Amino acid sequence: MAEPLIYELSVPGREGAKPPQLDVPPAELPVDLLREELPLPEASEVDVVRHFTRLSHLNYSLDEGMYPLGSCTMKYNPKVNEVAARMPGFTGLHPLQSEETVQGALYLMYHLQEAIQKIGGFAGVTLQPAAGAHGELTGVLIMQKYHLDRGETQRDTILVPDSAHGTNPASTNMCGLRTVQVPSDERGNVDLDALQSLVGEHVVGLMLTNPNTLGLFDENLEEIIALVHGCGGLVYGDGANMSALLGVMRPGEAGIDVMHFNLHKTFSTPHGGGGPGSGPVGVVERLVDFLPGPVVAQDAELSDDEAPYFTFVTPPKSIGPVKSFWGHFGVLARAHTYIRMLGDEGMKRVAEHAVLNANYLLSRIKDVYPLPYDRICMHEFVVAGHFAEAPGVRALDIAKRLIDYGLHPPTNYFPLIVHEALMMEPTETESQQSIDAYADILLKIAEEARTHPEVLHDAPHHTPVRRLDEVRAARQPVLRYRREA
Ligand SMILES: *Cc1c(COP(=O)(O)O)cnc(C)c1O
Repeated sequence: MAEPLIYELSVPGREGAKPPQLDVPPAELPVDLLREELPLPEASEVDVVRHFTRLSHLNYSLDEGMYPLGSCTMKYNPKVNEVAARMPGFTGLHPLQSEETVQGALYLMYHLQEAIQKIGGFAGVTLQPAAGAHGELTGVLIMQKYHLDRGETQRDTILVPDSAHGTNPASTNMCGLRTVQVPSDERGNVDLDALQSLVGEHVVGLMLTNPNTLGLFDENLEEIIALVHGCGGLVYGDGANMSALLGVMRPGEAGIDVMHFNLHKTFSTPHGGGGPGSGPVGVVERLVDFLPGPVVAQDAELSDDEAPYFTFVTPPKSIGPVKSFWGHFGVLARAHTYIRMLGDEGMKRVAEHAVLNANYLLSRIKDVYPLPYDRICMHEFVVAGHFAEAPGVRALDIAKRLIDYGLHPPTNYFPLIVHEALMMEPTETESQQSIDAYADILLKIAEEARTHPEVLHDAPHHTPVRRLDEVRAARQPVLRYRREA
């Protein structure tokens, strides 16, 4: 049953707003701008409050329940982050203000750069990119410029494993480079023989997601990095999902040359619905000069022991700015708060619990949901939403049925290399109780698939719109309300 629209609640003459007493001379309204036929809704305050509150309840959110959307890392967003991001000293700033009047903001940016540098084991960081994919574009541009600077103009290819996020080949394309896909082996690692046959003097680098989108830590990481470095290429790390590595492993020290971080995943900024996000990029020493400018630096001359002074500097061989002004500052403030609240020990506990929670959920369902790569997982895992005893049931049916139980479905049909993929990431912020409740429902749905699969095919049953034509909804969205004639 569709919710009534505010227009349909309209009652002629009903009103909810009282304009204040007129304290200026009355004037005629510009009649040519007034439109009699404009069907504005007429509603009381309580009508409007109830209408929009009811609508807000249709939207599932993290503050309501578990959101195990693999690869998207929907962890709980601590409210203290919001307090920090909304401090008037931050929200009142203007991006054109002069450096000496925004020292507090620069302090925060400088220390966030330092924190990300330390977490990743890198020598420099840019906070400019507005999202993960934007970070990838930035990173690939840096790799490209590094090779051009060395006169290696023949390098035109980026190697991308077949389990990679779709943004990896897209970023490569946007830089005018060629993508060559690297297959995975039967354990879900990068196929080393295939990689060996693909490296060469034409390679700009490899884009590696580790743990990969199967939730698996590549068992041959050292060999992979050696092969790519051996041909003069660089290794890009897709660090969108860092929850499993925080405080446990520093990718820069393992040989990853450049990597983006998603502040809106790993570092707990709310996301979904289109942003804003933030995708800082960390680089090792040999790439620092190519970072987009400006970055925040401490000015040695103007600083003293009591008061450090911060300034913007542009690295000497910079690829140039990748974003107007200084990045999405509100997201930076949230991430900074998150990192400072946790501290080093807390960060490590995030990683331990992210991995523990994922393995716990996996262990609860793996006898029922087929597991294509039967290994200990990292912060997420992928099972098949398909049962031999219920051949008509697909991952999509399972995802839709979860909605009937008031739960958010996992990611489905990604990564592409798993048939009927269901990709689950409970995150470290879920309790054993909430993971158990989710597992119980997954097992119940698997049972329904065997006994009465039709309830799965028809699901969801209680939502205002039922099974959508999702492709058409995305390509031809009807965004405007049309009154019945
Ligand atoms: C989310 C994600 C990205 C892209 O990040 P956006 O902020 O959505 O652009 C890239 N790679 C992986 C593995 C991701 O999960």
